[in-house]
Amino acid sequence: MALNEYARKRDFKKTSEPKPKVKKSSAQPLRFCVQKHRASHLHYDFRIELDGVMKSWAVPKGPSLNPKDKRLAMMVEDHPIDYMTFEGEIPKGEYGAGKVIVWDIGVYSSAESADRDVSRKKLEAGLFKGDLKLVLMGHKLKGAFALVKIKNKKDDRDNAWLLIKEKDQFAKAIDITKKNASVLSRKKL
Ligand code: MN
Repeated sequence: MALNEYARKRDFKKTSEPKPKVKKSSAQPLRFCVQKHRASHLHYDFRIELDGVMKSWAVPKGPSLNPKDKRLAMMVEDHPIDYMTFEGEIPKGEYGAGKVIVWDIGVYSSAESADRDVSRKKLEAGLFKGDLKLVLMGHKLKGAFALVKIKNKKDDRDNAWLLIKEKDQFAKAIDITKKNASVLSRKKL
């Protein structure tokens, strides 16, 4: 939950990214975002609000609405809540240098309960177990998704997960990443 790693990697005199601040929000639904980020490699950052921070995964190929796709999602350091709407350019020489747009944003809950507080507890348990069941209500991503940690004893990386669309009425065999504009500014990378 602490943003120490986030802070350690960045020089806030140089980057316009949000300052590391834990923000417990009160009544509104939990939020998520997906940022499209052209750093050394193009990727998508999938972030979900939990415990006052954005839990974050870097998804090289981006999310898919097709349940047949299993998208690798590398868990990265927690980001501040304010990061959710961050768009801009991280300057050369800084961590993650390159352009960022908000590819999708919306609210979400645990698939087990729409109630915010019950949801939060289910999500915390899911995160710990390495098995998260989410319902996303974004502009591009909708419906049930699973985020499942890869358990591989031969591999000592402990941050590899898979992001998978569950079968429901929002599942589609289309390439949703073709919708490439920011949902906030309409900008494209
Ligand atoms: Mn990134």
